[in-house]
Amino acid sequence: MRFAADRMLGKLAKWLRILGYDTLYSRTLSNDRFLALGDKGRILLSRNTRLVGKMAPDRLIFVEANDPQVQLQCLIRFLGLKPDPNRFFARCTVCNGLLKPIEPEDVLGKVPEHIWTSHNRFSECKTCGRIYWPGSHLARSRREIRRLLGV
Ligand SMILES: [Zn+2]
Repeated sequence: MRFAADRMLGKLAKWLRILGYDTLYSRTLSNDRFLALGDKGRILLSRNTRLVGKMAPDRLIFVEANDPQVQLQCLIRFLGLKPDPNRFFARCTVCNGLLKPIEPEDVLGKVPEHIWTSHNRFSECKTCGRIYWPGSHLARSRREIRRLLGV
């Protein structure tokens, strides 16, 4: 299942990416270009009441909740999603690109030294080059995922 989130749903988009869902998000996308993504097979997620009714209700989901975690829980329930732990943290939370493992030597100088000396597993976004490692914000996310989804 692939998604596109409107400009008001940046945090929800980040969470969907953490769970491994291909989720487009752009703050600068026009409504027309956003709706066009729905025609390309993505489920549109929107808080814009003016867009409701412009697409079939199964193609455009109006997100009512304010809180990103509640938004995520509602969406999972509504769509009957079964997030797969094997796909968690497989995507860049910034650009939606896929991550690939990268050797520690190759990130030398690209991450803070205390991170480099205390970790031996890194991954890199194939699209934007951002480096990820277990821990820091990811550890917090894992705990939150467990709390959110009971996995
Ligand atoms: Zn990226």
